[in-house]
Amino acid sequence: MNKNEIKNGLRDIGLKRGDIVILHSSLSSIGHVKGGADTVINAFLETIGEAGTLVVPVFDKLGIITETLKQRPNAIVSDCPLGTVAAIGADAEFICRDHWRAATVHGHGTPYLKIAELGGYVCLLGVDQDRNTTMHTVEALLELPYLNDISAKVDTSDGKHEATWKYYPGPHRDFIGLDRKLLDGGIMRVGKIGNAVTRLMKSRELIEFLTKIGTENPAFCLCDNPNCADCVKQRAALRRAELAREPFKFAVASSVAGHYVPEIIDNLKTAGVDYVELDMLRGHPAHTLDSAILKTAAAEFKANHINVSGLRLPAIPTDFPTIIALLKTINISRLLMPLSSDAAIFAKQAVAASIELVFYNLGVTGNYASRIMNQLAVGKESAAGFAFSPANFARIGEKPFLESFQQGKFRKYITQLDIEDALFDGSSALPGNGNAEIRELVSILRCASFSGYMTISGINRSFGSARELAEQFLSL
Ligand SMILES: [Zn+2]
Repeated sequence: MNKNEIKNGLRDIGLKRGDIVILHSSLSSIGHVKGGADTVINAFLETIGEAGTLVVPVFDKLGIITETLKQRPNAIVSDCPLGTVAAIGADAEFICRDHWRAATVHGHGTPYLKIAELGGYVCLLGVDQDRNTTMHTVEALLELPYLNDISAKVDTSDGKHEATWKYYPGPHRDFIGLDRKLLDGGIMRVGKIGNAVTRLMKSRELIEFLTKIGTENPAFCLCDNPNCADCVKQRAALRRAELAREPFKFAVASSVAGHYVPEIIDNLKTAGVDYVELDMLRGHPAHTLDSAILKTAAAEFKANHINVSGLRLPAIPTDFPTIIALLKTINISRLLMPLSSDAAIFAKQAVAASIELVFYNLGVTGNYASRIMNQLAVGKESAAGFAFSPANFARIGEKPFLESFQQGKFRKYITQLDIEDALFDGSSALPGNGNAEIRELVSILRCASFSGYMTISGINRSFGSARELAEQFLSL
């Protein structure tokens, strides 16, 4: 290839005089070029003319073309140590100016967005979308929750500074997977220069198109390989951010998350969940374990920023004072147990010990449960809360939302909704696939800004991992 052949190729794909273009390239992908990198750079500069501007990223070893352009005496290099670009042409100074002063490396006030605002192009010459730095502009503009702050030293003409930029991109992303969308969306032209497949996109159109996709699906540029630790972690950050926007607290039963504490912590982190309900540990009901084991477990959760939402008893205890003493020893102040006709007696002892007692329905009708809960109410205050178990109401043949919830007037007692499902025949189901009217219950509580717990209860443990069940809950 010689310079004129490259110029013809650039004109064919749509570049013209006065254009601004950021170029990501691989010289070797073109094939043999007479005169090497300088020939390619000259072809671009002559195509866009003196009114145009050629920009290349120089923040890493990104190929001989970028290195060669950067060394030219008329090249201007942006002053940000991250995402650095070099530029030659009419708008080079404006594009590179004050890069380090921007709040992010790739967003507002950076060369990448300035190129878009000036009507410029992104050109990928023999490289794929993985090299397209403007993708980070889309992520930064969307302020995606998996992005992080980053700090570095800056050395500028007016002195040394220490700066922090927000929304800096993480490790792996699936930008290659967006290529087809850009082509189908009419955002990208594809041609060939020598052997180099060459893509040209209007930067502004690229950003607007992907911003729309990313607004609907914040995971749009993450891969869905379950073994990609980077994207699993980034998806957890998206789920955590989505859950944090809700007034309720989202918890998962320990028995769903695993057998042992480190495993449970790992799985909750992967799921993006900050609350755990202690029902089982090491394959046993948690309250039957030695108090020293439970105390250590509670401390480990706390050290890993996982809050214990409560201890759940699977049955009515024979010796309630022992349970109260256990809670005191292990520093957990919330207890869940089945509702019974002795509720008032338990509630009195719990109040005296400053334990928050929460009853859940097990083998009782909505009518019975609401009658007992009414008896616990003293004025507007209730001596105990209610954890509504829709699956257990479905199991006794009631429609949990239409009958149990509405007729029982449970709204005023509910401090927890168990996210679980069951069929009228008694068998458990994946939340949303049974007769427990989970969607209706979640929806009606959200309408009232419910601030209690929504808990993936232990009966879900055969339906998937904490991550899969959190995902299922969000899709509900
Ligand atoms: Zn990935």
